Amino acid sequence: MPEVPEMEIYKDYLNRWVKNKRISDVNVLRLKSVNLESTDFCRRVIGRLIKDITRRGKYLIFHLDDGHFLLTHMMLDGRLFLLPMENTEIGHSVNELFSELVKSNVEDLRERIKELPGKPSIVFGLSEDSVLFFCSLTLGYLHYLRQDELEVKLKQLGIDPLAPTINAKALTQLLNGKKGMIKPWLMNPKNIAGVGNAYSNEALFGAGILPTRLISTISSAERVRLFECLIVILRDSIRLGGDMEEPFAHWDDFTGGYNSYFKVYDRAGKPCLVCQKVIQKSEVAGRNAFFCTHCQT
Ligand SMILES: [Zn+2]
Repeated sequence: MPEVPEMEIYKDYLNRWVKNKRISDVNVLRLKSVNLESTDFCRRVIGRLIKDITRRGKYLIFHLDDGHFLLTHMMLDGRLFLLPMENTEIGHSVNELFSELVKSNVEDLRERIKELPGKPSIVFGLSEDSVLFFCSLTLGYLHYLRQDELEVKLKQLGIDPLAPTINAKALTQLLNGKKGMIKPWLMNPKNIAGVGNAYSNEALFGAGILPTRLISTISSAERVRLFECLIVILRDSIRLGGDMEEPFAHWDDFTGGYNSYFKVYDRAGKPCLVCQKVIQKSEVAGRNAFFCTHCQT
């Protein structure tokens, strides 16, 4: 599941390639992915200019020029893909574009559609020069919201670990008086927004804390180290490309660059990079925890 680094990388790409473009056409292929009736959704969104794209936790927010917002969450397997159309002679309707993309005999397009990171759920034509695909929004969604509706949604989220005013010390305050195991707490978006399974495992390894440790037994020095590790790991991952397998566009060779840097996540059975003991995997609160019993206590 994409976490803060992957969504931040999407945000940067979207700001570079999609910001200030007008949504010239919309095709809702998976009706459940939008919060309005499909024709109503299209009527409201078509013609709108995308003024900005921001991120909060794992959410991306498209700011539209009518004062409304498009809020998207990728959930487990949602992915974005941008296809520039400037070199093609396809018509301007996304419906046409899409059917051409699927049926086209044009070898170039056939090659490009293969790169789509999943089944398209929603397709945007942008300023008639590119197409943005929201793929595999099986549990994910794209909702058209008023500002007050957006605020209600975002109010439920905890602190964004990359917010400019946030540091490790500020995050340690959140643990005061808290009970239960540390890993589920880290992954709860009401505490910290945008940290999921991969980066919670990595931060705990970095801090030498077992995923099952009770919060009440974690010392203040360990708490500071945990959040310092978390922030450094998230920032490193953004700098190196995050862990998403699928590129944002056919030219994107940056995405996924952090995959080879994981020290425990998805490395069960392999030797610990610090002590050579075998990395363990077990279920903690319904999610896989990866850890080294020698380096973490
Ligand atoms: Zn170890």
